[in-house]
Amino acid sequence: MLFQKFLQTISGIDPGKIYVENVRSILDVSTEHARRICEMAVIDKIFERKIGLVCPNENRVIREFSSLNEIPETITCSLCEANDEEESTFNTSDLKKIVYYKIIQ
Ligand SMILES: [Zn+2]
Repeated sequence: MLFQKFLQTISGIDPGKIYVENVRSILDVSTEHARRICEMAVIDKIFERKIGLVCPNENRVIREFSSLNEIPETITCSLCEANDEEESTFNTSDLKKIVYYKIIQ
């Protein structure tokens, strides 16, 4: 598949959240290969890598960071806060982290 066509396809899904798994299935390659393609796109400044911290209550990304160093010790989920959940501030070390890529506009 041509890279342009690939970019078009992947942006059609969600240009802000490109998962290795999507790349893998679109290109029909191994997970490792798909990861390498994403990392190459980062080097070429086509993609940027993001680390998303997932709220355990509603299973959505609370905030995203560009590197592990940027992640603070605790983080507050505004949705949990608004919903008066018992817990809305979490230790980031306890939260699930997911890696995805974004297309640099
Ligand atoms: Zn939450």
